Amino acid sequence: MDKEILVIEDEPQLAQLVEMHLCDAGCRVDVALTGTDGLAKANKRRFDLMVLDLMLPDMDGLDVCRELRMKRDYTPILILTARSGEVDRVLGLELGADDYLTKPFSVRELVARVKAILRRVDRMAEDKPESLNFEDLTIDCEKRRVSIKGDGVRLTAKEYDLLVHFARNPGRVYTRSQLLDLVWGYGEDTYEHTVNSHINRLRAKIEDDPSEPRFVRTVWGVGYRFFDPSESDAQRSK
Ligand code: CA
Repeated sequence: MDKEILVIEDEPQLAQLVEMHLCDAGCRVDVALTGTDGLAKANKRRFDLMVLDLMLPDMDGLDVCRELRMKRDYTPILILTARSGEVDRVLGLELGADDYLTKPFSVRELVARVKAILRRVDRMAEDKPESLNFEDLTIDCEKRRVSIKGDGVRLTAKEYDLLVHFARNPGRVYTRSQLLDLVWGYGEDTYEHTVNSHINRLRAKIEDDPSEPRFVRTVWGVGYRFFDPSESDAQRSK
C-alpha cells in the first residue's frame, strides 16, 4: 500500500501490535504514546491516515482531533475508544473522524477499516468525471464550461472552482473557512466574506431564484452545501 500511518496509542503493547499488522499490510508506521507527541509528529509531516486512541494520559483524543482540524489538517482519522457511549461516537464523527472501533477489537478488523478508508480517499482523489449533471445544470470539467438548460453560463475561475468543489461532493456541508482553503489556498490573503460574495455571484448566475437556491444551499450557522439528488423531496424543501 505504501502509506504513512501515525498511530497515537498509549498502551505500548497494543500500539506495537497495531504497528506490526499495519506494516505487514505494507504501510509505514510511526507510533506516538501521548497526544502531545502525536500532534508534534503530525505537525512535522503529512500522514495518509491516523489511528487515534481517545483515552490518552496527557490529553483527550477528541482534543487531538479538534486541534488537528483547527489547524486545517484533514488527514483521515480512525478513532479507537474503550467508551462505547453514543456521545463519543457522534462527537468523533462530528469532529471529522472517518471511522471508529470500540475496544477490544480484532487487529484484523482494524487493518480492514484502515484499508477501507485509504481506498475511499484514493477513489475520491482519482474520481474526476468529465461531466457533472444535476437536473438542468451541466458542468463540463474538461472544458471548464457550465450550462443551464443547454445555455452557457459565464463564470469566473473562482466561481467555477467553487461550483466544482460543491458538485463533486453533493450534500456535503462546507464551512466558509474550508471553502477558502479549497478554492483560494492557504496562503492567500482572503476573508470569509469573500466566500459569501462569490457564492452570491455564483447563485445569481446558476439559480433560477437566487433567494431560494436550488443548487447552492445555505446551512445556517455553518456554511453551504450543494444539492444532493438522492435527497427526498421532504428534505429538499427544508
Ligand atoms: Ca488509552
